[in-house]
This record gives sequence, structure tokens and C-alpha cells, in this order.
Amino acid sequence: MDPSAKATELTELLDQARECARYLAELGVETIETLAFTIPAVEPIVPTALLGTDLRDRQLPTKTAAPVSRSPVVVPSRSRGAAQRSQDALFADLLPTPLTTAGTETLENIWRDIGDCTRCGLCEGRTQVVNTHGNPKARLMFVGEAPGADEDAQGKPFVGRAGQLLTRMIEAMGMKREDVIIGNVNRCRPPGNRQPTLEEAAICRPFLFREIAAVQPDVIVVMGNTALRNLLEMREGISRVRGQFRDFRGIKVMPTFHPAYLLRDPSKKRETWEDLKKVRDYLDTLPPQRI
Ligand code: URA
Repeated sequence: MDPSAKATELTELLDQARECARYLAELGVETIETLAFTIPAVEPIVPTALLGTDLRDRQLPTKTAAPVSRSPVVVPSRSRGAAQRSQDALFADLLPTPLTTAGTETLENIWRDIGDCTRCGLCEGRTQVVNTHGNPKARLMFVGEAPGADEDAQGKPFVGRAGQLLTRMIEAMGMKREDVIIGNVNRCRPPGNRQPTLEEAAICRPFLFREIAAVQPDVIVVMGNTALRNLLEMREGISRVRGQFRDFRGIKVMPTFHPAYLLRDPSKKRETWEDLKKVRDYLDTLPPQRI
């Protein structure tokens, strides 16, 4: 296998390992026992820089691990810098793995892949899969939890009462609904509109991640706890983290309340509007055309 294919495979494995660790953390697993093993004394194939900031900076949620006996990587000190530079140059086109350069897939490809999905039990009670909907070149994306009865019947996200409120919120920002793109963590209506389980969300969200990579919005507004916890690696609730920009693989994320919650507690509209104004003001600082 050529070095760049190896690097790609390794990067994918690291992504999968991170997703897996995140899923286990969501299930409450804090410690992962590993077998002691020895890493042979070879030079690493992938330079640290290749791993990209988001992989480098995020620690897998293991608190302890069994001891690993690691043989030192022997690189003569005079050649180390040159070796690193040549590796970096070799892999420069893969650096890092951000979504901002990843727009190689179309939404149609992703939806074809999803098909008449039966990957989790939610397929049993749904009428149809409700895919992300809107402008494929949107600068602004909204992410909710899962379709409700109206969405399940019409096959589009956020078309019920919460969706009508969302449309008004978008218009208050000076945009039209057709300008933005709207999706959910899960695409099938959970029975009785219950919250999707962690497993259901973990099965479905990779498709959302691929859509985000395809669209490459400038900002994602995550609405409510399910969207928050599935996009950002945090356990805090939406009330604590709303209103502050976060990062999802190089894209700005604004957490705010879910419109269904605002229907139940309209007093939270004021804070939600503050959050959306921050998004609008940030978008106003960007050049009008995407490069
Ligand atoms: N609530 C959601 O989270 N998503 C929808 O599509 C509708 C209501």
C-alpha cells in the first residue's frame, strides 16, 4: 500500500476510534482497559501534523489505561527535523482533516446511501426517512433532534409548529428559509416523539456529519440538548452552554434552545434571539460571496 493510502486509512481509523470513544463516553464508560502491548521500534508513518488540530487536541475519554511498554522510536537527532519536514511535505495535501476542504460528496450521494434505512429500530414506526432539507450551499445550518408527526407525514424537517417558529426566527435574522439548510440528528420519528436513544443517535449522526462536510456551512445552530451533545463533545446542558460559539471540525457552532422548548416556555425566546443575533452579526462579517 502506498504511504498516502496508509495515511488515509490511519486517519479514518483514528476518526472511527474517536467516534467509538465518544459513544462509549456517552454510555458512561470512563475507563477502557487495554492489553499491554509493545510497539515495535519503527518510525511513525503519519506525522503529528497530519492528524489535524481536532484529532490532536481532543483527548479520548480514557482516564486510565493498562501500562503500555513502548520501545523508543529511534531517529538520529540530526535527521529528525529533515525527516519530519519531508513527511509533512509528503502528506501536505491531507493536512488536516477539516470539513472545510472536504466538500467532495453531494447531498444526493449521501441520501442515496441512507436509502430506505433500516439501520436502527426507529424504521419500524416511521412513515418515511426525513432527510436534511434546504439550500445545499447554505452558509447557515440548523440542527434539531428528530422528526415529529408532521415531519414524518410530509418528509421534511421542521414543518410543524416548532418548524413554523423556526421559520419566523430565520426571518427575524433577515434571511429566508430557502437560504438556510435544516436537519436533525435522527431522520426517523421516534415513537411518541421520545428522545432518540444514544445508540439510535450514534447510528444516524454520521450521515449528518457527511452532510455538514458536503455543505460546509459557515455556522451551525444546534437547537436543544440532543443536537448539542451529538455535535459537540460536552455533557453540559443547553442552558449552560447556549450563546457561546463553539467549534465542530473547524465550523462555528452556536448552541441555543430548541423551538419546541420555546413553545413551552416563551420566556426563553429573549435569550434565543440574543444567540441568533450573534450568528447574524458573525455572518455579516464574512464576505458576501463564498470563495
Ligand atoms: N423537532 C425536531 O427536532 N426536528 C424536527 O424536524 C421537528 C421537530
